Amino acid sequence: MISSTESNACLSRPGRRAFVRNGVLVLAAATQNPRHLVADDAESRLRIGLITDLHYADKLSAGTRHYRETLKKLDEAADRFEQDKPAFIVELGDLIDAADSVETERRYLKTVNQRYSRIGKEQHYVLGNHCVDTLTKQEFLGGVGQEKSYYSFDRGGIHFVVLDSCFRGDGEPYGRKNFTWTDANVSAGELEWLKSDLESNHSPVVVFAHQRLDVDNNHGVKNQVAVRNILESSGNVLAVFQGHSHRNDLKEIGGIHYCTLVAMVEGSGPTNNGYSVVDIDSNDTIQITGFRNQQSRRWQGKA
Ligand SMILES: [Zn+2]
Repeated sequence: MISSTESNACLSRPGRRAFVRNGVLVLAAATQNPRHLVADDAESRLRIGLITDLHYADKLSAGTRHYRETLKKLDEAADRFEQDKPAFIVELGDLIDAADSVETERRYLKTVNQRYSRIGKEQHYVLGNHCVDTLTKQEFLGGVGQEKSYYSFDRGGIHFVVLDSCFRGDGEPYGRKNFTWTDANVSAGELEWLKSDLESNHSPVVVFAHQRLDVDNNHGVKNQVAVRNILESSGNVLAVFQGHSHRNDLKEIGGIHYCTLVAMVEGSGPTNNGYSVVDIDSNDTIQITGFRNQQSRRWQGKA
């Protein structure tokens, strides 16, 4: 057992702090982060890397969205992940932004994915509305080499679920500009799948989504209550990570934490980047170490 004074031993080197964790000295970049990995008696279970809303496109900036700068920002995140070695990386949607033609959009996807697909050993893709604006789902998934738009997998004793909320209210999948972005839904078939997937699972669960499941405004999934009911019934969900509204947020509904991550595309220059490393420990504590504009957070997943 490490006392809190030992755990917060601080090195004098600017921008770096050292922590003792389970007897091991851990260094964390402190410049951008008000909170850090905190020592306790729990064993680290798994570490993952998260980014969202890259909106990469080879086009002029529009408002606060600096599409071309995403590549440099992604390289910085890649350097961090290289050092922190998460088990896998997830991008929470809107990897690309719209082009005038399918061919140009394919090129945007290829350019950004050449970088993203090289980060670490394993990458996952959540579909965002911008991913399947001009492209179809098949074209996007084919372009990144991912078989399905919604699925689950197990790592380190944790059950991870990737959701796809890119369906119209009538159940049609998004693609080829056939939708209004505010009409985001999880399809009836996907709800059935989610229910049976979680019923057959007994491990702690972490969910990845693009559109938000915790707000009923334009950024929210229309049938979010049905999705939340399934998540709450499982009794195992430690966290839902989401993007789409481009800003930091954290809400707790029905005992589940919904954490919205900041968009990588927002703002110019390296200081306006955002990415995070998430640690899940054996006590089901979630620790988000945020970089640049991404806020750090910590909560106990299950009461
Ligand atoms: Zn976005």
